[in-house]
Amino acid sequence: MQENSQQIIEKTNHFGAHNYHPKDVVIESAEGALVWDPEGRQYYDMLSAYSALNFGHRHPEIIAAAKEQLDKVTLTSRAFHNAVLGEFFEKLCQVTGKDMVLPMNTGAEAVETALKTARRWGVEVKGVANGEQEIIVCENNFHGRTIAIISFSTDPDARINYGPYAPGFHVIPYGDAAALEAAITPNTVAFLVEPIQGEAGILMPPEGYLQQVREICTRHNVLMMADEVQTGFARTGDMFACDHEGVVPDIYILGKALGGGVMPLSAVVANRDILGIYTPGSHGSTFGGNPLACACAIKALELLVRDNYPQMAREKGEYFMAKLREINNEDILEVRGRGLLIGVEFKHSAVGYVKELIAHGVLAKETHENTIRFAPPIVISYEQMDDACNRIAQVFSK
Ligand SMILES: *Cc1c(COP(=O)(O)O)cnc(C)c1O
Repeated sequence: MQENSQQIIEKTNHFGAHNYHPKDVVIESAEGALVWDPEGRQYYDMLSAYSALNFGHRHPEIIAAAKEQLDKVTLTSRAFHNAVLGEFFEKLCQVTGKDMVLPMNTGAEAVETALKTARRWGVEVKGVANGEQEIIVCENNFHGRTIAIISFSTDPDARINYGPYAPGFHVIPYGDAAALEAAITPNTVAFLVEPIQGEAGILMPPEGYLQQVREICTRHNVLMMADEVQTGFARTGDMFACDHEGVVPDIYILGKALGGGVMPLSAVVANRDILGIYTPGSHGSTFGGNPLACACAIKALELLVRDNYPQMAREKGEYFMAKLREINNEDILEVRGRGLLIGVEFKHSAVGYVKELIAHGVLAKETHENTIRFAPPIVISYEQMDDACNRIAQVFSK
């Protein structure tokens, strides 16, 4: 028997742990920027799975690449070579301008990998004693959900009763280059930073911050590790959000859109003097770099360049943000963002608006209560943006 949305939601809530609080909508099928529920209602996807769907739902060329790979081999583990891993590495090195790739599956795993890389590099290259390595991070960060990562989260919900917490991290305010300089000690091995804080509510650092960070890290021989899991791969109108200030970090932490919205795939990308520290057995993942994910990523990386996704996101983002700014609502404090990563901040909770948006066929979600994130797939058409904006204006001008 075909279940309706209500029955599906009840079953999910009954049998699943409640570590999420999803909105009352069930997605049964999707294409591009559109999704449909079991009752056939249509919605615009303005969240894009937190930027994992930069290419839209089921991009036909990525799906074709996945289907072709499904008929060959899907998983080998890293005990053996697979026929597509090398090509994936080569393509990702071309897009990032770096020498080497270490593949994992989720963003959190890539962040963990970057932390391990920095700690080991600190001992073997910088000469810090093992156990003394320090890593600097920012307030309001979001880097994932593992024990080590939540140990340096400043969000009480993320840390609740998960102690003992991992040591070796030092938290400083975001966007404050002087605080970084002041926090560095001889044992500091890395600074982990999001070029724009997505989960914190699309918080953008002051202009010039990333350049200052780059300069400070270089001067103190501290690795600059950019978590571009959410901002990377064209979302902000550049290939990477660091490009906006012409900054190249030592380590790119990548995920989300890398798997083309089809497979989980993440990576740490850096030069040989950094990733060269790894030796067999010292790190790994059974599914990391599996052929099915690599086939999706190879196509995704090809599309990014061939179809100039950064330019698409820049132009569409400007158009979309201008339309949002035209909306008259005294409760709107600010419309901010870059490319197609846009936040609308209200003077009060935005939860009621989110509910109304969904009723008007627009899927969006508040981040941190007062801000609604609009981050549609980069493939969204101008016609679709116009229609979605009309619906958003209807809701916001109520
Ligand atoms: C989503 C996200 C992560 C974690 O990725 P997962 O795949 O959910 O583990 C890490 N960093 C940033 C900036 C993210 O947005």
